Formats: sequence, structure tokens, C-alpha cells
Amino acid sequence: FSPATGEKIAEIEPTPLSSIPLIYTKSRHSFQTWSKLSISERLHYLRQLRLLMVEKMDEIAEIISKDTGKLKIEALVADIMPTIDAIKHIEKHAIKSLSGKKVATPLMLIGKKSYIEYMPRGTVLVISPWNYPFQLAMVPILNALAAGNTVIAKPSEVTPLVGVCIENLFVKTGFPKDTIQFAHGGKELGAALTEQKPDYIFFTGSVRTGKIIGEVAAKHSIPTTLELGGKDPMIVLRDANLERAVNGALWGAFTNSGQVCMSVERVYVERPVYQEFLALLKEKTEAMRQGTNLKDDIGSMTFPGQVDIVAAHLEDALDKGAILEAGKLPKEWKTGGTHFIPPMILSNVDHSMRIMKEETFGPVLPVMPFDSEEEAVALANESEYGLNSSVWTIDKEKARRIASQLVTGAVTINDVLITVANHHLPFGGAKQSGVGRYHGEQGLKIFCHEKAIMVDNGHKNTEIQWYPYEGKYPTFLS
Ligand code: NAD
Repeated sequence: FSPATGEKIAEIEPTPLSSIPLIYTKSRHSFQTWSKLSISERLHYLRQLRLLMVEKMDEIAEIISKDTGKLKIEALVADIMPTIDAIKHIEKHAIKSLSGKKVATPLMLIGKKSYIEYMPRGTVLVISPWNYPFQLAMVPILNALAAGNTVIAKPSEVTPLVGVCIENLFVKTGFPKDTIQFAHGGKELGAALTEQKPDYIFFTGSVRTGKIIGEVAAKHSIPTTLELGGKDPMIVLRDANLERAVNGALWGAFTNSGQVCMSVERVYVERPVYQEFLALLKEKTEAMRQGTNLKDDIGSMTFPGQVDIVAAHLEDALDKGAILEAGKLPKEWKTGGTHFIPPMILSNVDHSMRIMKEETFGPVLPVMPFDSEEEAVALANESEYGLNSSVWTIDKEKARRIASQLVTGAVTINDVLITVANHHLPFGGAKQSGVGRYHGEQGLKIFCHEKAIMVDNGHKNTEIQWYPYEGKYPTFLS
């Protein structure tokens, strides 16, 4: 059902649990041929897929928008374009990144040579969420394939149309049979897929599910990347460009209706500029347009369950004394009612409230004053999450000083979210926000065994460290 209109948009046959063993058998079988192709042969398929995506861009944006309720422009800019960009990056760098590389050999090993080889791991399981259902499935899938793995993908059951759209793109591109297979369904299917011992699990989703996957992975010694949730702080210092900071807060908190792992989820403003910041934020929030047209700023939320979480966080905050500064609650906004949640601003908040501690993942932005740099850093770090953060000041030295004290996977100075768009930067979380990093070179290498190889020319018949030991213990120690 479309979250924006409530109309039925598709009926998708779920993958039966009984078919999972066969999916794995096929994947392992096709690995034997796919992994033996040269990197450039594999890149040929990625290129074809990229060209198809460019050709079908508007169609894909339409499907993403229908399935998620997000605006088409957001589907284009934050789901499709980053995927195209990631493929281009892979096409440009994969050969260099994945080719073996020579390394130095210490003097005591004279006569030998050393190098590192990157060997695909085998079958990679990619499990993805619904908030950026295209990009967050595609980018790990494509990195894993480029590195020579075969992939089993389980897209989110919340956005099944996008899952099928991705599958069709691979089919139309003509990837060799079973190199990439799709399993459509919910958490039971996801759990059953992890139990089949893939050679790597790349998971993006909630902390709760990430912990379950982490346990299964530990039980079977499966290496994983876990890209999980966030509660990202924004720190606004008194010397910041306030209008820029407010504009950044608006987009950082409300794009995709706040359903962004790297969303601005709490703002701390230095007390002398707190009222001015709040007033401007309030004014600009009230001017935002909500709808599904190209002129609108914010679409509908995607997942009814998430609407309930937003409602619960808001209720808890209001009960504890928070003040709703902007935005009005729709009357029928619990599950079954509207998914259009207007952007809201809260003041008079503190860290006893769920809205300041737990991931809200909705368009509600709480704002709190602070009195010193130390206090701002302490408040920002007082969280179980550590995905992203931002610092706003025109004093570069102060910005860097604060940035380096924040326990998060990323910090932007005078901007929000945008580190994710640079492939030369790692992406991933600290604390409960995740384990591991991807994007760029690391995004390819995580899908490889990094193998150490040392070569001796094989002419001599003995080595100093080999037997016999007799006569080799230093006399000055004995
Ligand atoms: P979720 O954890 O509910 O589901 C994610 C995926 O895991 C879905 O495909 C789901 O079917 C599957 N799944 C659920 N239970 C499973 C199990 N026991 N075993 C295997 N698979 C299982 O998350 P969601 O609600 O789809 O996504 C929202 C969350 O994802 C938010 O917390 C958000 O912050 C996070 N997220 C993180 C990033 C990041 O890069 N760090 C990006 C986007 C979203």
C-alpha cells in the first residue's frame, strides 16, 4: 500500500523459507565462475547497470516515491544519484583497489618477497532497510559483486516494490545467472537467511536487529558490517552564521520526513543565540510545504510503525514539560491514520525525555540551550548512539577542537549529513551505531579476504629459524 495515498500499489509473492537452501546452493555454484572473471569483465556488467539506471531514472524515482511516500526529488538525489555515483567510483577504482599489492619485507627475511592478495569471500548476504531502499541495497550489493562475490539480497518488506525494481534492473542488465539473487520477505526470512552461514553479512537497519544479526554472526564466526541507527547532535555556537545553521537544521532534520539514520535528531544552541535561533527555526518550519508534488518540501512518512514511535516520543516529551513551538499534530495520526506528519519543533527539553535519548526517526526536532563548549560536548556525547554530528561556528579552530571530541562516525562543520556523499571518507558508526565502515576503497575491501603472501625462491635448503636449534641460543644470555 502506498504510504502517501493508502492505495494498493502491488502484490508481491514472498520468497518461501523452504527455497533458502537452494538459493545458497545456486549462489555457491555461480561463485565458481563469477569469482574467476577478471575485475574488468565484472565491471562491464556494473557499467551496463549504470547506463540502464540513467535511462530509467525517472521511472525508478517514481517507484521509490510511490513505495516510500518520499518526494521524487529526494528519491532522485538521495537514492538514485548516490548509487550511480558509487558505481562510477567502483568502475574507476576497483582494479587498483583489488589488485594484489607488493609490500616491503624486513631485512631479517632477506631474499623473500611479500604481497597482499584480495580474494572474494564467497556468498555475501545483504539485508537492507526501507528508508533509502534503493541506495542502501544497491551500494553494498555492487561492491560485493565487483569484488567477485555472489550476492543474496533481502530488501525491506516495508518497500517491496523497490526490492522488485532492483531485481528487475539486474535481470535486464543480464548479470550471469544466480550471481545475484533476491529473497523478498520479512524478518523470518532475514533470520533464516543468516542461519544458512553466508560468508559475509552486510546489514543496514536498526540497533535491535543489528544485535540479533551480530549474535548469529558470532555463533557461526561470520564477518559482518553493521550499519545501524543514530541520534545525531547538532551543536550551534554563538558565532555561527545563524541563518545557515537554521537552514541546515531544517534540511538535516526533515529531509525524508526525518527517516534518516544521519538525521539531525537534537540541537544544542549556545544560550546567547538560543532565542534568536529558535524564532528563526520556528518561522521557517511553519513555512514548509507538505505534500507529494514537485513544489513540496516534505512528503509522508513510510512506515506506520514509525509513526507510532514518533507519537510515543512526542507524548513522553510533552508530558515531561516540553513545549511544541511549531507544527501541529494531525488528529488521526496513529497507525491506520495519516502518514503525513508535519515538521515539528520542541523546546524546554532535557535528557530525561525519550526524544533526546532514543532514535525518533521522524520530523520532530528538539532544541536545547547550553552554556559552555564543555557542556555542549558532554551533552552531544551523552548518547548510546554515535553515527553522525555537526558543529556550527565560524571559528575553524574551535570547530575542529569540538569535532575531535565527539564520539561519532562522522562530523560535518557548518553543514549536515553530507560526509556520506564523499567516497573518499569512511561511512559507519561508533558505539551502538554500528560495526565496521564502507564506501570508497574500504567498501570493496570488506568483501575480500586480505591474504598475506610471502615468496622465497626455494633454492636454499635451510633457514636460520628452522631446526636444529642447537648452537643458536645467544651465548651472552645463557
Ligand atoms: P530493521 O532492523 O527493522 O530492518 C532492517 C532489515 O532487517 C529489513 O530488511 C528486515 O526485514 C530485516 N530483519 C528484521 N529482523 C531480522 C532478523 N531477525 N534477522 C535478519 N533480518 C532481519 O530496520 P528498518 O526499520 O528497516 O530501518 C530503520 C533503521 O535502520 C533505523 O534505525 C535507521 O537508523 C537504520 N539505518 C541505518 C543506516 C546506516 O547506514 N547506519 C542507514 C539507514 C537506516
